[in-house]
Amino acid sequence: MSKHQIQTVLQHIGQANFDESTGAAPVAMPAMRSSTVRFKSLAHLERAMQDLQQGGRSVVYGRGGMDTHRALEDLCCELEGGVKSLLVPSGMAAISLGILSFVQQGDHVLVADSAYAPVRMLDSWLLQRMGIEISYCEPTVAAFTEALRPNTKVLYLESPGSLLMQMLDLPALTAFAREHGLISVADNTWGSGLQYQPLQLGADVSVIAATKYISGHSDFLMGVVVTNREDLVPALSQCHYALGYSVSADDVWLALRGARTMPIRMRESADSALKVCETLATWPEVERIYFPAWHQDPGHAVWQRDANGSNGILSFSLNTDPARAARFVDQLKLFGIGFSWGGFESLVQLVDTSTLKHHSYWQNQDTPLIRLHIGLEDVNDLIADLQQAWQQSI
Ligand SMILES: *Cc1c(COP(=O)(O)O)cnc(C)c1O
Repeated sequence: MSKHQIQTVLQHIGQANFDESTGAAPVAMPAMRSSTVRFKSLAHLERAMQDLQQGGRSVVYGRGGMDTHRALEDLCCELEGGVKSLLVPSGMAAISLGILSFVQQGDHVLVADSAYAPVRMLDSWLLQRMGIEISYCEPTVAAFTEALRPNTKVLYLESPGSLLMQMLDLPALTAFAREHGLISVADNTWGSGLQYQPLQLGADVSVIAATKYISGHSDFLMGVVVTNREDLVPALSQCHYALGYSVSADDVWLALRGARTMPIRMRESADSALKVCETLATWPEVERIYFPAWHQDPGHAVWQRDANGSNGILSFSLNTDPARAARFVDQLKLFGIGFSWGGFESLVQLVDTSTLKHHSYWQNQDTPLIRLHIGLEDVNDLIADLQQAWQQSI
């Protein structure tokens, strides 16, 4: 299948098999709900058990997931260029699995200081209790080299980083990890395997919050962990099993449905977001726009080199008092005030800038920062809404 463009692959992968007797198959893979499997004979069960032990995809119990799950796993391997995908109940669960699979007591983990903030909760609420230490660093080879210890095992990255969309030099950082025998894990929710592919840029493991663009419709939470290294599959599979992760077939069905249209949804949101940037750039109070596809973003050249496209998530800082920024947000009619992104709808978040104090990339200190997710509304309506809200906020 891989000889086709990924947009083509996404329309053909994960179809139901033809029925042997009728030669017919449903076009849409049904949601196969079942908590367990029954076997025609002990010999059939034995065959499945043996296949499982040899790393196969046979199912002997429902937690492994049936054909619907397998279809989404295959699709995610195609997206990321991986050999194994594991489905988990949320993006946060994918992050936890991506880190926990490779550490034990006494180990040390390097984390990019631009990473999704809840990674710090995994650290302070769980890893510290297990005797695993984390150092947060400016995501450069120089800073990671300085923080490296003999017991460092994992390099955890996210590119572009959360809230400020900081583009990382992933090829250089993953080369650094390889040189020092570290497993590199990258959060790829931003690219979701389509606009950005960490495994192709040298990472060992990619984690995606399917909650965002793969879903695209804001109606379920899910995470995916993908690797292209066969030797890492046992550690990931065993940790996945031990943590008891399982995902509903109905949610997997929604994820398959969402993934089919992800290329056109992402493209539309990205085009609209760029137009929003053009408008924001004309406002004297907009101090800076954080969007790698924007020509003035400091990460623009790296984005052009490493990414295939963009999406609808952007932030901007304002040279105003925080009260005006808050009034602006309250005046917006088409942007829902809320967390998350990647869905059909536009959202706005007045970022709590105290959460940015750990980001070395955040130099602005006191200026308010607003994050927008540009959804699938008509972009001229969105721009008009931003304009009216800004005027009303005076
Ligand atoms: C939302 C998000 C997550 C977590 O996903 P959930 O499904 O909400 O747990 C992880 N990483 C990034 C970058 C995200 O934006």
